[in-house]
Amino acid sequence: MKEIRMVDLVGQYAKIKDEVKEEVNNILESAAFINGPAVHNFQTSLEKYLDVKHVIPCANGTDALQIIMMAYDFPKGSEILVPSYTYVATVEVIALLGFKPVFVEVYPDTFNIDIEDLESKVSENSVAIVPVHLYGQCVDMERLMSVAKTHDLKVFEDTAQAIGAEYTFSDGEKAKAGTIGDAGATSFFPSKNLGAYGDGGAIMTNDDELAAKLRMIVNHGQSKRYYHDSIGVNSRLDSIQAAILNVKLKYLDEYNSARYKVADGYSDSFSNAGWITPPHESQFSTHVYHQYTLKLSDGIDRNGLVDYLASFEIPSMIYYPVPNHLQKAYSYFGYQTGDMPNTEDLCSRVISLPIHTEMSDEQLKFIVDKVHGFQG
Ligand SMILES: *Cc1c(COP(=O)(O)O)cnc(C)c1O
Repeated sequence: MKEIRMVDLVGQYAKIKDEVKEEVNNILESAAFINGPAVHNFQTSLEKYLDVKHVIPCANGTDALQIIMMAYDFPKGSEILVPSYTYVATVEVIALLGFKPVFVEVYPDTFNIDIEDLESKVSENSVAIVPVHLYGQCVDMERLMSVAKTHDLKVFEDTAQAIGAEYTFSDGEKAKAGTIGDAGATSFFPSKNLGAYGDGGAIMTNDDELAAKLRMIVNHGQSKRYYHDSIGVNSRLDSIQAAILNVKLKYLDEYNSARYKVADGYSDSFSNAGWITPPHESQFSTHVYHQYTLKLSDGIDRNGLVDYLASFEIPSMIYYPVPNHLQKAYSYFGYQTGDMPNTEDLCSRVISLPIHTEMSDEQLKFIVDKVHGFQG
């Protein structure tokens, strides 16, 4: 049996190698390394795939979030509502720009932002909400958008883990993750569902005026060459990565289905185990399973399980061991243990198993058997 990895990028590359090499070679031959036609082609393909008016490519997902927040003239100290249970990047950019992250709980079944808790934390200083479609499943966007509308808040979707996931509104209308709020940010970090062979990111929006502003900010705030209207940054998706992404975008739905099949296999087998809870799938969203994350029941030794799996060369990960409201870097906001019980509880009992596009039935069965073996 092939070595089991959290993500098998080597196996995935083997299948698209010829196509990728040809595209990369075209860039090398043309020397159009920065903002060449490949970047524009990828932008257009992604706009079509997501059914969104504007995609603004940039250097990584963290930049994408930061650039969106730079496009508004929020006063320093403005409050941005964000789940504590997310990758640090979501929170980092808020703090970096001098705003205040106001942490919100998540639902213990979906791991996504708790709408009641969100609304209870809105204040007169609130300016925006950053919902995170964690592990590949959409937040309850219809309810979130309604809270945003009531309180006049902007919505910036962190879609780094959910590219390709689809949300269904109660009237049957569908939209891709990242295209529902005022803007969405995504990441093409290699292990993401649509991964480059290096860093990359993009912003999505249907707002023409915002798109123009974002395009300016990614390019040093430049309106025309050497005329700078606002403070910007230098954040580009390079042509080689764009060319690779354009090849991989064609396979994204296939990749997401392959992930779903693995998750389905896991969940089928774990649903009656008693000591583990498989992920909950919401009615209103598809799940693209960036991560397959289980919850362990009370008294189950998580470190013991990690070591036990490792003894069979099965990797596992804890996403995330420490909630952001209790991270040292953000302690100056004054949060304490006990402030977010659901989030803290999840951090103590989640474990993520390997999931990727290349997993064989044999590997899946091996992992499932070993997990069951842990509790005899
Ligand atoms: C990966 C990730 C990011 C950051 O993306 P980078 O491209 O690594 O900067 C932001 N938010 C979430 C939820 C992520 O998983």
